[in-house]
Amino acid sequence: MPQATLASLTTLRLGGPAGTVLHLSDPADWHDAARAIGAREQDGPVVLGHGSNVIAADAGHPGTVVVMNTHGITVEKLDDTRVAVTVQAGHPLADLVQWAAAERLAGIECLAGIPGTVGAAPVQNAGAYGRQIADALHGVTVWDWGMGCVRTFPAQACRLRYRNSRFKQTPGRWTILTTTLHLTRAPAAGITYRPLADELGVPIGARPTVPEVTAAVLANRRHRGLLLDPSGPDARQAGSVFLNPRITTTQATLWSDLGCPVHRDSNGELRAGASWLLEHVGCRPGQVVAEGVRCSQRRTLTVTAHGDATAAGFHQALTHLAAQVATTTGITLQPEPTRIGLWTAKS
Ligand SMILES: Cc1cc2nc3c(=O)[nH]c(=O)nc-3n(C[C@H](O)[C@H](O)[C@H](O)COP(=O)(O)OP(=O)(O)OC[C@H]3O[C@@H](n4cnc5c(N)ncnc54)[C@H](O)[C@@H]3O)c2cc1C
Repeated sequence: MPQATLASLTTLRLGGPAGTVLHLSDPADWHDAARAIGAREQDGPVVLGHGSNVIAADAGHPGTVVVMNTHGITVEKLDDTRVAVTVQAGHPLADLVQWAAAERLAGIECLAGIPGTVGAAPVQNAGAYGRQIADALHGVTVWDWGMGCVRTFPAQACRLRYRNSRFKQTPGRWTILTTTLHLTRAPAAGITYRPLADELGVPIGARPTVPEVTAAVLANRRHRGLLLDPSGPDARQAGSVFLNPRITTTQATLWSDLGCPVHRDSNGELRAGASWLLEHVGCRPGQVVAEGVRCSQRRTLTVTAHGDATAAGFHQALTHLAAQVATTTGITLQPEPTRIGLWTAKS
């Protein structure tokens, strides 16, 4: 059998050979698998969901890659309106959001259309349209590779911030096994994001039903090129390639006067629109950034891979874009996807 590649496990379809790939489908298999991996690999495995937020090294990963493919939702009634929903890590986030919409359970409706697994969502506090998984997260169970046992972290201990968490800060230390969300049988949370309010034809602060918001988010993502279409021209991508950068009050005044969108994140930090900054230095949708690397057809902030693109070339293209923005604006862009596998200083 040919050796599996990281390219086959990631949406950018970049990345070299994987030593051993374990697709974990049955949660009951976890303990034996983890003990065997822990005994032979000091640093633990690379863990993947759908590979939609990673750039995998051309040199691959010589050790074990665990692909979380566990599915399942269990529901516990908390009171007349609230339920605790515990979801296996490999369950597709999109399926969970659709299930919640059908059940009219509010809390994650704005996350419709985000690719990937429920277990990966707390890693970068996945979010969109003014909401994030932190708004509904109650806690997670993890495998602690340092201690060799299962642990439970309440939401607060996950240290969720704008596209960040303790899991993203310390890659590989913990594998999320289940995620527990608290959802409420109620209308959706008040709409805070202007494009979503416009899509729904409602004022800011309105509270449409959960299915209405879920459908509007999907429609809006479709118009804006924010859905993953595996057969379209922008199929090979990892979503937004840069985080909206933190800026100072002085930078906020300067750049918002020039038209840059500036907002406060859920922790009160000022952030500039990364997409606007890229366009300010001349990037446009569809533009070639480097050989085999282009901005997507509909969106400058999504960068896509083509043909014989390499992970090193893709990463260098992002470094080049960030340098252009830094030179022109003094603002530092940080990549959003995580690099996995064996990266050398040269790559
Ligand atoms: C078209 C497109 C649109 C996107 N839109 C958004 C958006 O609107 N908002 C947003 O936040 N993100 C967005 N993303 C990024 C991505 O979909 C999310 O970050 C998603 O949560 C990643 O899930 P995944 O299963 O693919 O994770 P992967 O890419 O497989 O993994 C991401 C990281 O999490 C780690 N990881 C994965 N599973 C686990 C686990 N069980 N335990 C511990 N660590 C784990 C991996 O090691 C890696 O470091 C988009 C991506 C694409 C391609």
